[in-house]
Amino acid sequence: MSWEANVRRVVPYTPGEQPKIDGIIKLNTNENPYPPAPGVAEVLRQTDSTLLRLYPDPDAKVLVDALAETYSVKPSQVFVGVGSDDVLSMAFMTFFNGEKPVLFPDVTYSFYDVWAEVHRIPYQTIPLTEDWHIRAEDYKRENGGIVFPNPNAPTGVLEPLSLIEEILQANSNSVVIVDEAYIDFGGTSCLPLLEKYENLLVVQTFSKSRSLAGMRIGFAIGSEKLIQYLNDVKFSINSYTMTRLACLCGAAALADRAYFKMTTQKIIATREAAKQRLSAMGFTFPDAYSNFLFVSHPERPAEELFRELKQRKIFVRYWNKRRIDDSLRITIGTPEQMELLYAALEETLRK
Ligand code: PMP
Repeated sequence: MSWEANVRRVVPYTPGEQPKIDGIIKLNTNENPYPPAPGVAEVLRQTDSTLLRLYPDPDAKVLVDALAETYSVKPSQVFVGVGSDDVLSMAFMTFFNGEKPVLFPDVTYSFYDVWAEVHRIPYQTIPLTEDWHIRAEDYKRENGGIVFPNPNAPTGVLEPLSLIEEILQANSNSVVIVDEAYIDFGGTSCLPLLEKYENLLVVQTFSKSRSLAGMRIGFAIGSEKLIQYLNDVKFSINSYTMTRLACLCGAAALADRAYFKMTTQKIIATREAAKQRLSAMGFTFPDAYSNFLFVSHPERPAEELFRELKQRKIFVRYWNKRRIDDSLRITIGTPEQMELLYAALEETLRK
């Protein structure tokens, strides 16, 4: 027997490309094209060595308190992690610990099945409808937990709170995780449902709407009980997930509500303009409430468009996967970046 028999073998998640070349237009990983709030730059300017020399606060109090204030919940209802990937992975490990399968859509964030595999969680994927919606009926079966993003990725499709509530009503015996990574681009958060459902965990991130993908800050809000369970697992793995710098930057980003509103509104406006421009070129897409669009063209294979754009140094996301291999996911950039994208697409479509 080889030592390899004892290895936990997994097929890892493939993150979007981070090309190391200059002058590209990067519309492939749903980053925010605008800088974080000016207060974040101020925090970075004031950095001194104690920030690095000392261990950070294991409770990340500065950030937790700022989140509690922003979202009008108690600090004991807030959990923070190294990006929402860390929060979600921790939540899978903590709450999906039964024998029954965890349910999530067939077309969704492609990390879910990877976490299920690495944490040895049984799971079942549930097909979305033809027009990419979740059917509440499909989630009224025995399960060990439920997770889905709202708006969904990579489609951008938003579900109403009534659907989320219908799923919660039918599932008081499981934890339901709603991944709201893209909620700030025009959706309505299900946070108000926390008052009624002790088993609801809402996960959000600073990576998209707060322009801090590089700082790695994610959080979950839920009942005090859920958060206590999450913290017990976190403190059994790594007490110091959040650096002091991350906590201070996160709190500074939350403090500037006007800037947050302005930048998210700009992205929403650019997205709505993109819907018009792209449909005029013949693209079709579900109506998205995210900082990306999920587009396909009736006459041109997505993979070909992906390659043509890449040649012009414009990066978008393409998956060679069942049901989504005829679509491209395009992150909404600045209006200037989008003009270059339209020009490149128009040129390619003429060929
Ligand atoms: N959830 C969804 C649906 C996402 O698309 C992403 C971004 N890849 C994440 C969570 C994780 O983002 P982060 O770890 O940067 O918070």
